[in-house]
Amino acid sequence: MVDKERQIIHMDQDAFFVSVELRKNPDLIGKPVIVGGSSDRGVVTSCSYEARKFGVHAAMPGRMAKQLCPQAIFVRGNMDDYSKASHEITEIIAGRVPLFEKASIDEHFIDMTGMDRFFGCMKFASELRQTILKEMGLPISFGLSVNKTVSKIVTNECKPNGEREIPFPEVRPFLNPLAVHKIPGIGDATYKKLSEMGVRKIQTLAEIPQDLMFKILGQHGLGLSLKANGIDLSPVVPYRERKSIGTQTTFESDSMDISKMKAILTGMVTNLTFDLRSQQKLTSCITVTIRYSNFETVTQQARIPYTALDSFLIDKAHDLFKKLYTKRMLLRLIGVKLSHLVSGFEQIGLYHTSEEEYDLYQAMDKVRNHYGVESVVKACIVKPPQKDENDKVIKYNPRKKKGKIKIEEENEEDKTRKKSRIRTFINSDLGTATKLDG
Ligand SMILES: [Mg+2]
Repeated sequence: MVDKERQIIHMDQDAFFVSVELRKNPDLIGKPVIVGGSSDRGVVTSCSYEARKFGVHAAMPGRMAKQLCPQAIFVRGNMDDYSKASHEITEIIAGRVPLFEKASIDEHFIDMTGMDRFFGCMKFASELRQTILKEMGLPISFGLSVNKTVSKIVTNECKPNGEREIPFPEVRPFLNPLAVHKIPGIGDATYKKLSEMGVRKIQTLAEIPQDLMFKILGQHGLGLSLKANGIDLSPVVPYRERKSIGTQTTFESDSMDISKMKAILTGMVTNLTFDLRSQQKLTSCITVTIRYSNFETVTQQARIPYTALDSFLIDKAHDLFKKLYTKRMLLRLIGVKLSHLVSGFEQIGLYHTSEEEYDLYQAMDKVRNHYGVESVVKACIVKPPQKDENDKVIKYNPRKKKGKIKIEEENEEDKTRKKSRIRTFINSDLGTATKLDG
């Protein structure tokens, strides 16, 4: 369907984490409040509009925020509270609209296309906003326009406590004077490149020929060019079709070895959370599945605060496994799935975790990004070292090993077999959706 005929609402809580803190502690209202970043190495995850006046913004190092705004009140933050509020907001929206997408912990897209014949979209959105404001006691803004990109820009422009409609004929005049960095998804590198080209306003970007944009920035450049022209055909992905990532393992021979199961679960969760973080997603639901040797399959699920960190999810997976594995019977399969995914990144720094742990994950992810997902693993999932006939550990010999790896690489069949042992899959219906809207 062409954009001209679409009606897309983007709803976004204002300074979400801070607003939840203010609701808890009204003494903080009107003061420069910063969630996260209280320690030297921490990062600001959310800040009040009073703090923003001093130049403080999300993702800024806490130390810099302190310099800009010495009187700021730092709050550690509580992901459980934010997750709870997030689910409640989603429930309110789910009860009132037929088609919506949860884009992040505090953002929803609603597709109202076709509904304007029954009631005005602006009136509907405005009432929905008032309902959320009243029931949640948390400030919220929305933009209504022809697609997800434009609606999101509209919201950002009318924040805080704002609402605005930009109908199709006004899209280009609305976008033209805005700075290019207002287009969602423009990273620092792209922004720098565009600045070097002298491109500051969206209008200038919109006027650059598409093939030139493609030459300079590839596929991404083409997408940007469309967005600058107010075109975005991406659909609102229904929340019902929940996005998920999962992995499962069928054992070569059925097993009852509990410590082995736990180690496998640990390995699977570690791989999944790495995927999650590299897609900049958070999960709020974990599912563990086991299949007994007689093919009886049982599943347990748990709702959790939004997270992308290993330690909590590993404990949860072990808990669920303990609840599931009630029969003294051999197992043939074990699987883990993380679902209810939303976009989010800085938030993982807020989770109940020590700074050291957070730094460790970042460092491990860096190594994995360079050398592959199996380059760093937890000690408990590593096979015990090979021993010779005298029970002596065979020492690692890099030269010998090199030769061996080469042979393995040449054997395609071995390679596929190895791969299929731990099979990571992305929810087939939404395979692309999970990756697309990061
Ligand atoms: Mg927000």
